[in-house]
Amino acid sequence: MSKLLIRNLRPMAGEACDLLIEDGRIARIGKGLDASGTAVEDAGGAIAIPGLIEAHTHLDKTLWGMPWYAGRKGGVLQDLIDNERNERIPLGLDVHRQSMRHALRLIENGTSHIRSHVDIDTDHGLILLEGKLRTREALAGLVDIQIVAFPQSGLMVRPGTYELMDEALSAGADIVGGLDPSSIDRDPKASLDATFALAVKHGKPIDIHLHEPGELGAFTLEMIMERTRAEGLQGMVGVSHGFCLGMPDQARVASLIDQVAELDIRIFSNGSPKATCPSLQALRAAGVKVGIGCDGIRDTWGPWGQPDMLHRARIVGMKNSMRRDDELELLLDTASSGGAAAIGVDGHALEIGAMADLTLVAGETLAHAVVEEAPRPMVIKGGKVVARAGKLCVEGVVAP
Ligand SMILES: [Zn+2]
Repeated sequence: MSKLLIRNLRPMAGEACDLLIEDGRIARIGKGLDASGTAVEDAGGAIAIPGLIEAHTHLDKTLWGMPWYAGRKGGVLQDLIDNERNERIPLGLDVHRQSMRHALRLIENGTSHIRSHVDIDTDHGLILLEGKLRTREALAGLVDIQIVAFPQSGLMVRPGTYELMDEALSAGADIVGGLDPSSIDRDPKASLDATFALAVKHGKPIDIHLHEPGELGAFTLEMIMERTRAEGLQGMVGVSHGFCLGMPDQARVASLIDQVAELDIRIFSNGSPKATCPSLQALRAAGVKVGIGCDGIRDTWGPWGQPDMLHRARIVGMKNSMRRDDELELLLDTASSGGAAAIGVDGHALEIGAMADLTLVAGETLAHAVVEEAPRPMVIKGGKVVARAGKLCVEGVVAP
């Protein structure tokens, strides 16, 4: 039996105590635990939280570590999509190398689970997915990666994409992605029929990017909810961004949020500074399971972002005008246990019997830990120390 005793940590910023891990699970939490026959680590009084959850990102897009990219364009969503699809090969964007760089930095910053979309389009076939599958295998035991097959260039508007999505879901993708069924696919009925058919065929959840604003987005969201109800897929459907839930008509939004909660539809937000994001507080108050994510970082779309969930939490906190400690605690929960529930990982908590996925964070309190810009003192995944002071410490694994 493998054992690790961590001395002097403060679970959820409570009183200092010890935490014993046996075979990758939390076995005991208490003061003065017996260390005989056990490897021991000293947490130095740091706060411990369940591992951070990156609930929405694109590991196949980042240019992190590559020469600075000066070719970013303005324009509408379609321009950005086309620019990326046309630039990937000329830029030499190797998905395995880039997704390793991105994921390893998320690990160093305390992330235990990642939900990552991967582009499926008729120019690239499944090569981008293959690069990401290699990364998932290389990082097994260091981070859990869920892969969403994502029709970034559209599902209905590019014939052949549906068949590739079908293949991707057979080849290891975990989740059926989607993109703006009305404004990109121009045919929400056909687009959603196809998306839900793939989910039913493969028995896999759905996660749809919905950037459509205002009443158009609300219309599409209602169509998503109708199908969720008709197919009995409560708890299996996620909506990323959901900008329509941030529209000014508060009565309309409240009604939509009630239906989202009733159907257990998960919402994923990156706190986009340019868009009308749904209120994190309103979603959580209604009982909606919510995750937050960095979305793309330093890619052909934009230069912004860091592979760090606390950095993202600060952006989401500012976007939601969070100031009070209880709001920052809600935010931190959404980046850890709450986000885990949203991506379908249950029991992600500092409790006896739970997986020993935990992160030490700097700060006096949980609220302080959200805003403090400091390396994570220690990151533990499945009972193993994988990073110290913000640096990976796993033999044989080197960030490319
Ligand atoms: Zn995205």
